[in-house]
Amino acid sequence: MSLLVVGSVAFDAIETPFGKTDKIVGGAASYIALAASYFTRNINLVSVVGDDFPNDFMNTLKTQGVNLEGLQIKKGEKSFFWSGKYHNDLNSRDTLETQLNVLEHFNPIVPESAKAPDFLMLGNLVPAVQQSVIKQLTKRPKLIVLDTMNFWMDIALEDLLKTIAMIDVLTINDSEARQLSGEYSLVKAAQKILKMGPKVLVIKKGEHGALLFNNEEVFFAPALPLEDVYDPTGAGDSFAGGFIGYLAKTKDISFDNMKRAIIFGSAMASFTVEKFGTERLIGLSQENVDERVQEFVDLVQFDISLV
Ligand code: AMP
Repeated sequence: MSLLVVGSVAFDAIETPFGKTDKIVGGAASYIALAASYFTRNINLVSVVGDDFPNDFMNTLKTQGVNLEGLQIKKGEKSFFWSGKYHNDLNSRDTLETQLNVLEHFNPIVPESAKAPDFLMLGNLVPAVQQSVIKQLTKRPKLIVLDTMNFWMDIALEDLLKTIAMIDVLTINDSEARQLSGEYSLVKAAQKILKMGPKVLVIKKGEHGALLFNNEEVFFAPALPLEDVYDPTGAGDSFAGGFIGYLAKTKDISFDNMKRAIIFGSAMASFTVEKFGTERLIGLSQENVDERVQEFVDLVQFDISLV
């Protein structure tokens, strides 16, 4: 099934208790496309970079089967830049700098050949831009998943609410769910957010896993306890890529299949955090992915007989 991925392709500078990077390749769409590429090879990317962006990374995406026809390269302009610093627990971070650069006036153009995707993943981006992509499509995808962040809740809430009303699945973290709903309880937050439009809500809780809600049910996926966590950047995007990639591969958008999909999403996120940037998501084998998913299964499998 075809998948259209939209989001930032960027430079990041990251500081964690385990080290610090200069500018490295990041961006929501980079992580999403890489993670999804382990499940489906029919991926189109819509984004924008400046002419400062490395060809090497574009070649890596191509090797992973990602079509870059929709990636605009702006001559003489600079790529989006984000820098962040993680606190000691790695579950929270401060944004040190956001330079929108090419994203400031980004007008996404979905290539003709990508205008009728089966699945659409709207990665973190200006909400009005996310919306303009939906409007360019010639048929409604089977599933639209949207990821966003507090930054857009702070500066573009009205546009964000309009965009959220057009989608099927929203993925945000726990503090963003609280901010968007004004509720501390995540159950109450989910009830409120599900009234804003999406049929399904995923609340990501970093090293504490992820919750999947619809109006009737809740499901929980743990995060894998890992020996080495270096950099949580992109974990949420890798989660989203694995989630939608698995749904696209299995062609099944039932809530039961979404329960499996959040395990695959969590598995992809667990790879990402093991190294800085996108490094760990490049060159994985099918065996690596299968083994990782099996670790999740083993982690939560137990027998209880209540007699
Ligand atoms: P995550 O850790 O999953 O929240 O995603 C981190 C990625 O999001 C980084 O690689 C950043 O380049 C990207 N990012 C950070 N802020 C923004 C923003 N305001 N708009 C779009 N992408 C962003």
